[in-house]
Amino acid sequence: MSTAIARDADDPAALVRRYAVQGPRYTSYPTALNFSEAFTEQHYLRFLAEAHNSPSPLSLYVHIPFCSSLCYYCACNKVISKDPQASRRYLNYLQRELQMLSQRVGLSRRVTQLHFGGGTPNYLDKAEMTELVHQLASHFNLDDSAEREFSIELDPRCVDADYLALLKGLGFNRVSFGVQDTNAEVQRAINRLQSVEMITELIALARQFNFRSISVDLIYGLPLQTVSSFSETLDSLIAMAPDRIALYHYAHMPARFKWQKSMDRYVMPDSEEKLRIFALAGRRLRAAGYCHIGMDHFVKPDDELARYQRQGRLQRNFQGYSTCHSADVLAMGVSAISSLNSCYVQNHKSLEDYYRALDQGHLPVARGLELTAEDQLRRYIIMQLACNLRLNFSELRSRYQVNFQSKFADLLVPLQTFARDGVVTLDEEALRVTDSGRLLLRNICMLFDDSLPSHQGAYSNTL
Ligand code: SF4
Repeated sequence: MSTAIARDADDPAALVRRYAVQGPRYTSYPTALNFSEAFTEQHYLRFLAEAHNSPSPLSLYVHIPFCSSLCYYCACNKVISKDPQASRRYLNYLQRELQMLSQRVGLSRRVTQLHFGGGTPNYLDKAEMTELVHQLASHFNLDDSAEREFSIELDPRCVDADYLALLKGLGFNRVSFGVQDTNAEVQRAINRLQSVEMITELIALARQFNFRSISVDLIYGLPLQTVSSFSETLDSLIAMAPDRIALYHYAHMPARFKWQKSMDRYVMPDSEEKLRIFALAGRRLRAAGYCHIGMDHFVKPDDELARYQRQGRLQRNFQGYSTCHSADVLAMGVSAISSLNSCYVQNHKSLEDYYRALDQGHLPVARGLELTAEDQLRRYIIMQLACNLRLNFSELRSRYQVNFQSKFADLLVPLQTFARDGVVTLDEEALRVTDSGRLLLRNICMLFDDSLPSHQGAYSNTL
């Protein structure tokens, strides 16, 4: 392949020069920066009433914001606390919220997907975790079939065999461990110490408990990381053989997340080194038998995500890539974002505001967005490209009655430039992202995002 992108992939400096811009990660479209406070609880109640009548399954997301210590790279909505009462109080409010939501959507919809994220969901002790799952089971129709996907993000530093056994008993069948990097120097720089031995043991335990899927999150772009240090991290990970590996790009944005300044005393890999690290990881993980999914996920070939991508059915949501049994994700907890058919709704980001709204008998809605028909069309295109790496024009026509070439006539020139560079192929039938074009998925999606000009400077670098 003698395309520009293939040449540039071996010359990261050229790739960065040509394509490094700021842009969204597209966990949603339109992105959260477009949400507005003009969207209120009244709007949400209307969408919930519609959701009540839907025959399709439902997804639930529960946000547990607490963490025991601060990781310096963190960009999540979290509360650092060592107060055991903090989670007790939070659970009381969470239960009020889930009861209010359950009254509105009813018990008829089968919950086939449940995800606990954070913060640190395993900040909850065993009794609290049991109580929360019991509350969900009492107020929603939780699926007990083998097809259900009940997943939880775990901090390896505060989970043991008993906790894993309990999670299995409570119905979780997927676990995801935050590893980030196994190098001790990198771990010290990001304030997150966890030994390879401990992670290896946890993964072996999770396998013993027969969790259907074991995932690991890694991050590239952290301080002190080099191609050589990350190669060792990959050696450890490949030996542990998790079913899925998510390899996230760290974007250093200390102006927005001030604690990230704590890492400024260390050498940070520049964009070119980050590209080399990502390219190395792609090569090593593919050689170890993993399939590359979308932008940044690697999974074993028999994993559902690989199957869904082959079938063109993969989806993306705030929790990453998904087989998304349902169009409706009902989210609860501070800062959580729900996605119901044609709207997004975000809860208050501060605990005080979240508690106050519930004390007043309201759903804790802070802002949201009702999608227009144009938003839905563009969301479909962006999600097809980001997840399935292709946009089929006849499917687009039958879903949205839109002719791609006429509707996006102004994009044909930039798309042809991408095509000449080997990033995409474009013919009568489809727009397809090439294998080497995956690196630029965010750049490709940005062509179809018509809200970008109003958010200059708010996003991280694509490379
Ligand atoms: S455990 Fe996760 S959410 Fe908590 S501080 Fe670390 S990165 Fe942030």
